[in-house]
Amino acid sequence: MIDLRSDTVTTPTPGMLAAMLAARVGDDVYGEDASANELEAKVAAFFGHEAAVFFPTGTMANQVAIRAHCDPGDEILAEATSHIVLWEAGGAAVHSGVSVRPFDGEWGLLKAEQLAGAIRPNDMHSVRTRLVVLENTHNRGGGTVYPIESVAAISQWARSHGLAMYLDGARLWNAIVASGIPGKEWGRHFDSIMVAFSKGLGAPSGSALVGPRPLMEKARRLRKLFGGAMRQIGYYAAACSYAMDHHVERLAEDHANARLLADAVASVPGFTLTPPNVQTNLVWFEVDARHGSAQSVVAKLRDQGIRVSALDGQTVRMCTHLNTSRADCARATDALRRFS
Ligand SMILES: *Cc1c(COP(=O)(O)O)cnc(C)c1O
Repeated sequence: MIDLRSDTVTTPTPGMLAAMLAARVGDDVYGEDASANELEAKVAAFFGHEAAVFFPTGTMANQVAIRAHCDPGDEILAEATSHIVLWEAGGAAVHSGVSVRPFDGEWGLLKAEQLAGAIRPNDMHSVRTRLVVLENTHNRGGGTVYPIESVAAISQWARSHGLAMYLDGARLWNAIVASGIPGKEWGRHFDSIMVAFSKGLGAPSGSALVGPRPLMEKARRLRKLFGGAMRQIGYYAAACSYAMDHHVERLAEDHANARLLADAVASVPGFTLTPPNVQTNLVWFEVDARHGSAQSVVAKLRDQGIRVSALDGQTVRMCTHLNTSRADCARATDALRRFS
């Protein structure tokens, strides 16, 4: 089976397993896990921030970040199809008593102009607007990369109005490789950033939150409150550190493979790429009625040994990653072209 459902299906490589075995571990709740401490320092420096906190999942890091930036009764401005809106089980309301105001983006991307006027008046009837959340690359938007100019404009607007800037950067690594813009350049526009190691980077689990030291101290306390403080976490941290050293540059291969798949999709009548140009490792497309539903396309591909995801009635997602070679993607391309 060639598994194109998600970049979360990757399994550790032999090199990563060796790094895990060489981890120097201790009780991380006592601050004594050397590999976790090293990873936190390394990822903070990579994005030009003071400190970082390791998390078991990206979802927990997102939720803790929201809680760290906001108080109950506050409001977040976010894109309508972002991960925190669609796929975190309403966590902002549940964990933080925070409401989320959704804005329609273009393939998931917001512009500073559309946020102008979005801040609620300082009035007892109004929720307090506190935080802007961006997502880069944008998953539901199709793996789109934010133009750095848009990020800079939104950040400038937010900061001039006293709002904090947060980035859900589960796939920020892909944006860095696709744009050639380094971590520090993205880093300076945000108060805090989450990055995941378990997506395209191929680690078994783990995300990090980076930001200023006082905010990260608060996040560390909240991580305990949310039940996410772990013990000999260095085995995971060592895998993540290995992934940072060895699996970032190679994301370019995933992007090239995704373009191969996208060309095949574009050649099939009744398949429409959304968005039309694939920038990173995600390929989203709509199937029209002649192909039945997304589920029927998924089933036909599965019969040919290719696994992809159906997201809703007519929407399919494919995702290239560490465990899908060029040859695998060429095979998937042949299977796709048979729908013509
Ligand atoms: C996967 C993902 C997350 C959550 O990460 P988990 O580790 O699966 O909890 C958050 N944001 C985006 C954009 C993601 O793709």
